[in-house]
Amino acid sequence: MAEPLEPGLYIVATPIGNLGDLSPRAAQVLSAVDLIAVEDSRVTAKLLHHIGIKQPMLPYHDHNADKVRPGLVARMASEAIALVSDAGTPLISDPGYKLVRDAREAGRHIVTIPGPSAVIAALTLSGLPTDRFLFAGFLPAKAKARADMIAEFSTLRATLTFYESGPRLAATLAALAQGLGNRDAAIAREITKSYEECVTGTLLDLAERYAEAPPKGEIVIIVGPPGEPEPASAEDVETALRAALKNASPAQAAGLVARQFGADRKTLYARALELQGK
Ligand code: SAM
Repeated sequence: MAEPLEPGLYIVATPIGNLGDLSPRAAQVLSAVDLIAVEDSRVTAKLLHHIGIKQPMLPYHDHNADKVRPGLVARMASEAIALVSDAGTPLISDPGYKLVRDAREAGRHIVTIPGPSAVIAALTLSGLPTDRFLFAGFLPAKAKARADMIAEFSTLRATLTFYESGPRLAATLAALAQGLGNRDAAIAREITKSYEECVTGTLLDLAERYAEAPPKGEIVIIVGPPGEPEPASAEDVETALRAALKNASPAQAAGLVARQFGADRKTLYARALELQGK
């Protein structure tokens, strides 16, 4: 018999494929709660069967969440309620943040039991920089909305991560190449499952590869950060200096442009004087 838990909300991460990745603490909490809020009871029933338990479940998904949420938050005053999604960490491209928000507003006890998430697992496989990354979930399906969103990310000096499905992969990779340039990327597929793979290449190479053979299974796209910006040409520096001289003294203009381009201030000052005919 599991130890009783303090009433409240328990956010429990579950495996993204390999059931062996359920942590002992997650299993212990799922055994001890009074109720599990689930996306799909058939999926969670398999997980519970794997650890040899049965528990009451209540569906909590995009279509019923607004209706079910107040009742769940009320019950957390006296019962321990777990939130799981079909796979991975709840709230990450999955329902749950409003439940946590409302539970927090109601002063409920909230605990997280961390574990697998496809985006983090994919980053670790990719070999692309992990010091700074943006998780953007699923891109919009419509081409214009997708291109607009990609454009928002184009100047970020960070690795970008997306969830995607097999049939849309090639088109999404082509749109990413169009909006971001032909950056290095990785496609992590079926992580922790028998056919786990991580294929690396430029966005255009990968788009071509997957257009010929759309992949099956679950997919994360990882796109490396932009390369170092092109060094400014002498012409760019001259144009900026002429523009700066319209509103600033030669010394100020030289300082501004030197900072902007990392150029030599003394040389710029001499040129600024020349331009002013001094
Ligand atoms: N909450 C989950 C998490 O923490 O990763 C994500 C849920 S989201 C609805 C499902 C998407 O995650 C899939 O379409 C796929 O893009 C990605 N995904 C989930 N499991 C995966 C796996 N084993 N390998 C690769 N991608 C996976």
